[in-house]
Amino acid sequence: MTTETHAPDAALARLTELDQRVLLHPHRPLTMTETLMLVRGEGCRLWDAAGNEYLDAAAGLALCQIGHGNRDVAAAAATQIGELEYWPTFWEYSNPRAVELAVRLAELAPLEEPKVFFASGGSEGIEAAMRMARLYHSTRGNPERSIVLARECGYHGVGYGSGSLTGFDDFHRGFEPMLPDVAHLTPPWACRPELFGGEDPTDFCVRELERTIERLGAGRIAAFVAEPVMGVAGMVTPPPDYWPRIGALLREHGILLIADEVVTGFGRTGHWFASERYGLRPDLIVTAKGITSGYVPLGAVLIAGPVAAELDRGPDGFPIGYTYSGHPTACAVAMANLDLIEARGLVARATELGELILAGLAPLAELQLVVEVRGAGAMLAVELSRETGAGEEVGNVVGRAIRREHAVLVRPQGAVLSIAPPLVMSDAQARRLIEAVSDVVGRLDSEGAVA
Ligand code: PLP
Repeated sequence: MTTETHAPDAALARLTELDQRVLLHPHRPLTMTETLMLVRGEGCRLWDAAGNEYLDAAAGLALCQIGHGNRDVAAAAATQIGELEYWPTFWEYSNPRAVELAVRLAELAPLEEPKVFFASGGSEGIEAAMRMARLYHSTRGNPERSIVLARECGYHGVGYGSGSLTGFDDFHRGFEPMLPDVAHLTPPWACRPELFGGEDPTDFCVRELERTIERLGAGRIAAFVAEPVMGVAGMVTPPPDYWPRIGALLREHGILLIADEVVTGFGRTGHWFASERYGLRPDLIVTAKGITSGYVPLGAVLIAGPVAAELDRGPDGFPIGYTYSGHPTACAVAMANLDLIEARGLVARATELGELILAGLAPLAELQLVVEVRGAGAMLAVELSRETGAGEEVGNVVGRAIRREHAVLVRPQGAVLSIAPPLVMSDAQARRLIEAVSDVVGRLDSEGAVA
């Protein structure tokens, strides 16, 4: 081999070695020795540094609605950076991109006369929404309404407030004490009857909420935070009567509903917001991810008018902000991203694509080691049995085999294989995804290995 052919390999080896030494990766165990160095993307295709091509069926962390490498978005970012890359929106300062995006979000949001507050991502948005819920009650003379309800297996980020709402022990262990005044309820994970003692899932969850309100006192509860469809848990879709009944109970007791639409927003479930799909009537909606398709970090809290009206009454107005709130370049990218979602009909495409993939994967539900195949638009999941020799790790085993054997990227989450394709995925690519998942899941054995 010539030196030239060796050079990229040597460079990659060096990068990989530096990666292991210097980069602290989220969720990478020391036992993991493999590094997948991704260098390029186009639509649903990705390439690693060695030139291997992959099909993206995970949209990164479920956010890349418009696909990778879009030049229109790159141009929008470059233009804005050339004009005014950054200025804060604190005090009297503003910028046209932040205003335009706020107007657009306010028009899209299923909320009454909303206002928009910008953050840099999902965790920050949840932190802000928690503060808003407490401040709202406090301003109205109810400062004792401080408790925030969330759900086991709900994911809301990793700030100390948002992380306290996140309902997974792994995100708390070693970090305690977490925030007080947070209570977790049972998720409506219908295919896990053990969670409900044999009762109907919605009946159980509604009764549990009633009892929690009774026990804690409605006058002490500020808000209920929840994902309309639970992403990190494994694309857990609620029974149809769950949200109408939970929502009615919250309203009856003056508890604000914060819809965490960080994953579900911007077309992912076949609606601009999943709140519309499931009939939620939230007071606040937290968004991030799909707002820019991940091209740059951005989050936005959409606040219903009656709540917003209580937030900036004090002498300092709304008294918190992030350095990057209303970042002109991030807002310009979001506008270009929303233009593309609209122009390409990607909200409707999410429904169509989801139906195609769901129909293709549905036969897997007949297999003994498959618990459920489900989906809401382009948020899909194959839930595997926890009874194989691999236990909760079964998703990892299957997900890795799908990548290794088919070069398709899905996201293993415990026993669930989650699928969230970029919404620009073609029918042919969707069929390739279905084939890859079906092939590997079909070969899963009771030992928890892929035969
Ligand atoms: N909320 C939900 C539903 C999420 O899925 C996530 C991230 O995956 C977050 C909040 C946190 O967002 P970020 O990682 O941008 O802080």
